[in-house]
Amino acid sequence: MGSLALKYRPQTFQDLVGQLSASRSLKNAIEHNRISHAYLFFGARGVGKTSTARILARALNCVTGPTITPCGTCENCKDIAAGTSMDVVEMDAASNRGIDSIRELRETIRFAPMKSKYRIYIVDEVHMLTPESFNALLKTLEEPPAHVVFIMATTEIHKIPETILSRCQTFAFRKFSIEEIRDRLVHVLKSEQTDFEDDAVFQIAQRAEGSMRDALSILDQVCAFAAEEKLSAKVVLEALGVSSEQIRLEFLEAIRRREIKDALQVIDKLHTEGLNLRRFLWDSLSAMKDLALFHHSASLSSLSGYSSSQTTLLKEYASRWDTRELNAVFSTLYNIYAGWNQFPNSRGSEIRVSLEMAIFHVIEKLNSPSVSSLLSRLNALKSAIETGKTHTDKKPDVASVPTEKKPTTEIFSQPEKKPIPQENPYDSTPPAQASLDAKSILESEFMAEPGSDKDRIFGE
Ligand SMILES: [Zn+2]
Repeated sequence: MGSLALKYRPQTFQDLVGQLSASRSLKNAIEHNRISHAYLFFGARGVGKTSTARILARALNCVTGPTITPCGTCENCKDIAAGTSMDVVEMDAASNRGIDSIRELRETIRFAPMKSKYRIYIVDEVHMLTPESFNALLKTLEEPPAHVVFIMATTEIHKIPETILSRCQTFAFRKFSIEEIRDRLVHVLKSEQTDFEDDAVFQIAQRAEGSMRDALSILDQVCAFAAEEKLSAKVVLEALGVSSEQIRLEFLEAIRRREIKDALQVIDKLHTEGLNLRRFLWDSLSAMKDLALFHHSASLSSLSGYSSSQTTLLKEYASRWDTRELNAVFSTLYNIYAGWNQFPNSRGSEIRVSLEMAIFHVIEKLNSPSVSSLLSRLNALKSAIETGKTHTDKKPDVASVPTEKKPTTEIFSQPEKKPIPQENPYDSTPPAQASLDAKSILESEFMAEPGSDKDRIFGE
């Protein structure tokens, strides 16, 4: 199939999917002959800045140009596409950031173009230039020869001096939505006559993080792995060496159910299969974000960025969580992940042990009562004591019974939890016992879970 990223690089303004604003402004400028001497394209990587620069170069230098529809067949168009045009100079400021490169550039810009109307300089990663180079560039931009056009591109516009910015027409290039990437991938796969599942394309689009170039590179990798096989979600996951969403949700579900054994079994399976646990934890954290999103959007039939089967799956799992559980599990797992980032060279076995201990920790945290449930119980105790003293003739209610009939320990007892099976070999710790010491319970609770919640109340 060859490099899809290269093959499906946009060639015309019409191809610039997703960058309608930049594309429209540039087309207007060309049509009304208001061509600027300096353009600055900014935005994330892989969103079409350099492709647009080349399209603009062709639009200006095509033998029929300036035109919004460069022919693509004349010598100028072909040379620009092949990167061999004498009149279009491409330089990467990341590797030519010194003053000499800019000096050389300043010397050549005086010469008229050889075969075309314009001498065009495409400067990629322009934020990498040194201050001296920016100064030299500024002098050029202050008095540009009529035949020169600069097209600069950067991912970090905040590093461009104001003096340069004020002399450029700037265009923002935004990241692509998951749907836009999905549509483009579907177009590519159909053109390549490759059989695919919708979920497979979604998996790739979601991993590309808004970059069309990354999406096509991932597709390249996956197609090479799949060979003649149909492009299914399973093939995508295998090709990329990542866990399935189902596995991640089951792992999180085991934690939610306080099933230490099940959660550890998932880790064991992934470790045995050689999957990267660091990445698995990050993907699980992303899955928690999805769960939170669906938990809070239960009334919506669908959310953008998710396939229909994902929506069904996420909705089902999200309905089982409450807010306190989501917050507690996310914060604990995130702290573990952030801790790992300080030791990027940790071995797989170290990561595994750390993750296994995190499971014990997070379940222990889930089992500890929340502040609001403790406060409810304290209030119940207070009212029970008061009721016991002053309203003994009142018909007993839930809160008033304990002082008379029940020992106070029950007021502080744990909320009812699904018991952890005793045959669990990993579970050597007894379930957390209720303590009579209200102060210590409150202290440990405040340490574990700042903030309040309304999901767990007395008597649940
Ligand atoms: Zn042409």
